[in-house]
Amino acid sequence: MSETARRKQAVAAARKAGVDALLITHLPDVRWLCGFTGSNAAIMLPVDQRLRPILVTDGRYTGQARAEARGVKVVIAPKSAAIAACEWMAKSGIRRCGFDEQNTTVAALKQMQAAIPATLRRKIFQPVGPLVSTLRWVKDAAEIARMRAAAALGCELFDSIFEHIVPGATETQVALALEYKARLAGATEMSFPSIVASGPRSALPHGRASAAKLPRRGFVTLDFGVVLDGYCSDMTRTVHLGRATADEQRVYEAVLEAQEAGVAAVRAGVTGGDVDEAARSVLRRARLDKWFTHSTGHGVGLEIHEGPRLAAKQTQKLEAGMIVTIEPGLYLPGRFGVRIEDMVLVTKTGAEILTPSTKAWIEL
Ligand code: ZN
Ligand code: ZN
Repeated sequence: MSETARRKQAVAAARKAGVDALLITHLPDVRWLCGFTGSNAAIMLPVDQRLRPILVTDGRYTGQARAEARGVKVVIAPKSAAIAACEWMAKSGIRRCGFDEQNTTVAALKQMQAAIPATLRRKIFQPVGPLVSTLRWVKDAAEIARMRAAAALGCELFDSIFEHIVPGATETQVALALEYKARLAGATEMSFPSIVASGPRSALPHGRASAAKLPRRGFVTLDFGVVLDGYCSDMTRTVHLGRATADEQRVYEAVLEAQEAGVAAVRAGVTGGDVDEAARSVLRRARLDKWFTHSTGHGVGLEIHEGPRLAAKQTQKLEAGMIVTIEPGLYLPGRFGVRIEDMVLVTKTGAEILTPSTKAWIEL
């Protein structure tokens, strides 16, 4: 789908929300709508087809905006892009402008209002929620291809990391090895600070790689992702150093079973709550669910965490083309933890796993 088609979707959503235009300042939304990747940008997208959408940025990005942005008029302003876009809007006769209140600070809204003549100011800005971000949940063919490539790179990194997972190496060294290989392979950055959590630290769901040394015996959880061509990957595998206890094996098997049940529950039409329950009920039956302290998964794309949420009671239905993670985990405080995470593409009939690295028990 071209940027033009995406903007059409956004215009239709704006019309439905009862506004004359959308002000888009959330950078992943800007990128999705016109291709521009600079760090200061705002799009004013009018519903009236006779008005051309504009992309405002600053002088640092003159060349880049002309090269990247498609189907929008590029306006270079010396000030905040959002403020310049608001000034342009007031002059264009737009009287109701939708904005994403979840991605706008109170300070930014005040500045936006100050850019509008006093007579119009009171009613012009209408909160419409993360309307464009929501459109991004369903990926088009080009996005799916990029996410496949990002996920495949993640798997390649995992499959070649074992030589670095040795007792005495620090978690940071393992993370660095992953990240070095990722950059060499073309990743622009990691999707988020890599999690390498070893021994008792594996019980921390978000244990960022630290100076801790890998133990002789115990779990090592690796949760990481790359950004390739703008799109994020996300995967988790947990491996074991040395001989495991029966408890450790039992917990691993339970998480794996829950993860596979979660994946098996995915298909277009089921809710985020259904998928969460499929994974969680496995752990409940094993009387381990009190250690599963987070939700089952999330959407991923230009951002590492997007909708839909796969969590208890979520009624949002999955649609073909969404890419979500399935990542149950169990965390026994002070002892150990296990998480297993795949990225999957939602299809009409099921889920296609984009991160096929083995999930079988690995003892190093
Ligand atoms: Zn993850
Ligand atoms: Zn995740």
